[in-house]
Amino acid sequence: MLIAEACTHHPIGDDIGREKIPECIKKRLGFDIDFDISSGRDYPEKLEKYKLIIHCGACTLNRREMLTRIYKARSHGVPITNYGVAIAHLHGGLERALEPFPYARECLEDIC
Ligand code: SF4
Repeated sequence: MLIAEACTHHPIGDDIGREKIPECIKKRLGFDIDFDISSGRDYPEKLEKYKLIIHCGACTLNRREMLTRIYKARSHGVPITNYGVAIAHLHGGLERALEPFPYARECLEDIC
């Protein structure tokens, strides 16, 4: 799994992308998995080895840059989501958040 961050911020002890999300996923799955971290401009060219990409909020990227990253993931057949959606799902709040959006709920039900 790839955790992708758009900037090169200095991570602190309980960094959300490097610590909290991986720990939450491992706890939810009940077994250990490998995480790669990319930051700043080192978004990998070869994405096909990943089962999932979880991207940060990308506040330092413009729309085109983020869409390019999404397009690259799709072109390699790798699903991509972001921290907020992943955390909502991991904590069981995503379905409720999507209640006003029936089509999005249907999509979620199809993949879960
Ligand atoms: S959301 Fe912004 S500050 Fe946080 S890791 Fe991504 S680019 Fe950096």
